[in-house]
Amino acid sequence: MNYLSSSRRVKLWQSLLPHWQQSVIGHSELGQAIIAFHQAPLDQCEVLAWSLMHGNETTGAEALTALIQQPQFGHKSWCIVPVLNPDGADAFTRLNHLGKDVNRDAIRSETKEGQALLSLMPRIQPKLVLNLHDQRSCFRGIGSDRPATFSLLAPCSNPKQKGGFDLEASKVASWMANWISQQYPHWGLARFNDSHYPNAFGDLWQSHAATITLETGITLSDWTRGETAQALALLLVNIDSTSWEEIFQNTPFDYLALPMNIDDAMDASVQMGNGQSCMLAYQETLQQGRLQAEWRVLKGDAQQSPAWRHWSSHLPRPMPGEVFDERSAQQIS
Ligand SMILES: [Zn+2]
Repeated sequence: MNYLSSSRRVKLWQSLLPHWQQSVIGHSELGQAIIAFHQAPLDQCEVLAWSLMHGNETTGAEALTALIQQPQFGHKSWCIVPVLNPDGADAFTRLNHLGKDVNRDAIRSETKEGQALLSLMPRIQPKLVLNLHDQRSCFRGIGSDRPATFSLLAPCSNPKQKGGFDLEASKVASWMANWISQQYPHWGLARFNDSHYPNAFGDLWQSHAATITLETGITLSDWTRGETAQALALLLVNIDSTSWEEIFQNTPFDYLALPMNIDDAMDASVQMGNGQSCMLAYQETLQQGRLQAEWRVLKGDAQQSPAWRHWSSHLPRPMPGEVFDERSAQQIS
């Protein structure tokens, strides 16, 4: 995936959507405007979506950018916050400039980015809210031999109090699960544990409108998630063009039948010539304005858990923490 600074991403959106309304819903810790782009007045928008709440999770933003360029886009009225955490996105870090996790700030409301998202709540009553995130490549559905490219969550609004949109969201999640498994039958698809996390924004919004937290992962043929972003864009296009009746007519069961997401997989397992083994983790880091793929050596021997790549090497065992670029990692094998 290419790196794009927050200001360039926002400028791109402004150039792609010259006729949409823009509302500045807040400012980041470093003073960058947080902008909601909307087709209709806020109180008439049917879908609310945000991305880059975690600054190094770019797939949602890439997919939304592809969505708004589709010629057939526009059946529903959308409100989109493409860059919710602009400082984190600039630094390509999960957290905001003060090192806080915006997605654990729904109750305390200490972060300016979280406050911006909260400020939308009294102004908008969408039928569907989409909270777009990336998940690490160690996630897979239980029993699956491939990474979870999509994991769905209908967050829990409040287990003690009825009245949230949990059931409605589960129906949407079923519709999504069916669409994804039909379009991408060979990709991993799982569901997240729906324990109640009152600090999480998905749980809070579920008390206000049907909310899905969608976590995207790698595909085995594209670790940079470009394929995943394309698939997510197609899913969003289908949400846009499918009637609400059809989306909400499902039962929750297809969603509930998905395997649970677990985070036990390894990116690569290396068998060394002397009988030892080690594990490598794939990561992308920001270096001089570009994202670089790296493989980092983890502590300990390779374990029983599945690995997405199996390499063997005649070289001595590398030290934990050692980092290989993509080319030297190929040479290990
Ligand atoms: Zn996230």
